[in-house]
Amino acid sequence: MLNYKRQIEVESGRKMTGLKRPRHLIDGHVHIMEQRRIRGGIRWISKVVRAYRQLDPETTPDALLQDLRRAGVDAAFNLYYPIGPGESREINRWQREMSDQNPWLLAFASLHPADPDPLAIIEESLNELGLLGFKFHPYVQQFRILDSRMDRVYRRLEEINCPVIVHTGFSRFYRLPSLTAEFLELLHRFPGMKLVASHMLCDDISLEQLAEVVEEYPNLYLDATNALWLYHPDYPAYERLPEFIRRYRTRVYFGTDYPMGMTYPVERLYKQGLTVCPDQETVEDVFWRTALRLIGREELPQGSTG
Ligand SMILES: [Zn+2]
Repeated sequence: MLNYKRQIEVESGRKMTGLKRPRHLIDGHVHIMEQRRIRGGIRWISKVVRAYRQLDPETTPDALLQDLRRAGVDAAFNLYYPIGPGESREINRWQREMSDQNPWLLAFASLHPADPDPLAIIEESLNELGLLGFKFHPYVQQFRILDSRMDRVYRRLEEINCPVIVHTGFSRFYRLPSLTAEFLELLHRFPGMKLVASHMLCDDISLEQLAEVVEEYPNLYLDATNALWLYHPDYPAYERLPEFIRRYRTRVYFGTDYPMGMTYPVERLYKQGLTVCPDQETVEDVFWRTALRLIGREELPQGSTG
């Protein structure tokens, strides 16, 4: 079992492998949000991860973006979801504006199961606003993955082949029941959905079981955010994780949860993620190619420096 309190602050025990940094760097999981939400998020993470005390909770979204650029990020999936009903449209419009100002920021939409007319929110987000997919966080948004109000949402997103990122894993960190069984049932019910297991069900499934799931569902992707950080000699699958990542490198992509990740500054997370990749092809897939494949693109967005 993992000890978060200790491991979160410990750098990987593994030495740098001598691999080159990837040709491009896509951070597949960041949370650049309106200031009120950033403030709350940084205050929360600072209590759990001491390194974040260096980051001022009053930091603006623009300053956070500059931070990512300084760290060498060429593009990033920006995830911003509503905590309650009635705010999704405003959030999704904010996402569009941020991406218009920063084309390298690849914005995802969200909605809340209690929102009126969720199907209209889907149409607006994808067709009018041009957002790239949907992100749901059942713990923070406080709903069950299989909430019946989500049925038509998933059905629609599956129909239109829209990427759907769902938080999974880290149940002990959240002190809530594991989402694994419900997530597996979601896969079973909507096998055609382009579904992403954010955090790759970390700490709530064995690597062997996860490999079986990845084999069974070809439309499933894994977002390795925070999962690779825990790669450490105490990690239950320490010896097997690099081979897993290599084997499924076209299904796994990297992210950091910035500015609410496992450590600060964010460069440390990119460097450490590299140490888990056993070869250069894996590095290229995990750090940008697979993320582009998820959103059906062949090239980085215009305005990215990569
Ligand atoms: Zn996140």
